[in-house]
Parts: sequence; structure tokens; C-alpha cells
Amino acid sequence: MNTDPEELASILAPVRHVLLDFDGPVCSVFAGFPAADVARRLADLLAGPDGLPPGHGLMDPLAMLRHIADVRPDLVPMADDALARLEVEAVAQARPTEGSVEFLEACAASDRQVWLVSNNATAAMDRYIETYQLKALVAGCFGRVPGRPKSMKPSPELLLAAMRVAHAEPAECIFIGDAIRDVQAAKAAGVLTIGYANKPGKAEALAEAGAVSIVTLMKTLAESWPA
Ligand SMILES: [Mg+2]
Repeated sequence: MNTDPEELASILAPVRHVLLDFDGPVCSVFAGFPAADVARRLADLLAGPDGLPPGHGLMDPLAMLRHIADVRPDLVPMADDALARLEVEAVAQARPTEGSVEFLEACAASDRQVWLVSNNATAAMDRYIETYQLKALVAGCFGRVPGRPKSMKPSPELLLAAMRVAHAEPAECIFIGDAIRDVQAAKAAGVLTIGYANKPGKAEALAEAGAVSIVTLMKTLAESWPA
């Protein structure tokens, strides 16, 4: 399922600000330091008599942070901080998404600003941008609010924060993400979503969640800015 190029171009025409999810459309954050290993490291760091009760079985570190907020809110500041450091470690081994730099360059060339909006830590995005020298192509990074996992998508909070700083109205923005919670967060912020379906089954799920268009390659988006 790939939207036809003319339709994509018309969706993008009014856009001045691109709100872009990080893990997926920009890179695969946990490609070299797998999410399950990060979750295990986090669990180890928080283990102990006064720590996180074992046996939650979570392999997704962000899901773990949500879980900690539910069962041991007192551990959230420490857990969030530890996870942020692990994410910074992970992005050193992240795999850039094919076409992602071309997309960022195309946004710059057509005078659109890009804001990264992610449940990952801002420090991890900053590190990635620095490593790949993308600073000129990214206007700002909005990661989860430290110590407050509830700020994560599907909450619209991070998108709203990005739009505030961008002085942008929802109608001038598009959100590009690869998860159902991205579509939900954008919907709650009044912004349309283009789904990046990088795995089988995602296209249908993202469309069903309400994405207005679906692409399977970032390159397609890079080539879709109206002249
Ligand atoms: Mg993602």
C-alpha cells in the first residue's frame, strides 16, 4: 500500500513543519544494542531489595518505563535517567534508516523545518544528530519529558511542545511515524500523520489507526515535496 505520488504531494503542499518520529523513520535505535538487552540492563540497574520487583518479563525498555511509573513511581526519576544513558549508548550502534538523510535534505531544500518528536530521550537524539552531522537539517528535538513517562506518545504533549516552539499551527504540520501510538498522538494534537510502514502488517495497522497516507520507504517522501 503506497499512496499515489500526486496525493502525497497534495498532502505535503501546505506543510511548513515536519514532526518526525525518531526510532523508525530516522534510524533503528536498538539495531546494535537490542531493546531486550537494554531492558535487561535497566532491570539489573533497578534490581535490589528496594528496587523494581522482578518478573515483569518486559523486553521493551520504554514499555518498562511505563510499567515502572505504574508500579513504582518513586523509581521513575532514576529509571528514566538510567534509560536515557542506555539510549545514548544504543544510538552509537543505531542503523540509519535508508533514505532518511535524503528526506531531511529534501525538507531543507524545500524550506520545511524538521522537528524530531520521540518517546526516546532527547539526549539520545542529540547524540545521533551530532554523530551523523545532521544539525543543520533538524530544527529541534522533543524527547520524553525526563521523569514523566506520561509525556510519551500516544500523549500529544511532545507534538504540542514542538508546535509551540515552532510557532506552528497543526494545519501547517505533518507527523511521520511508524507506530499506532504516533497516529493517536498526532490525532490528539490535531495533526495529520503519514505512516512509515517499515514492517509487514504495519501499513494496514497505521491506515486503520487513521494515517492519511502510507509509505514504505523514506525515499518516497524525499521525492514527494511539491516543486
Ligand atoms: Mg517509531
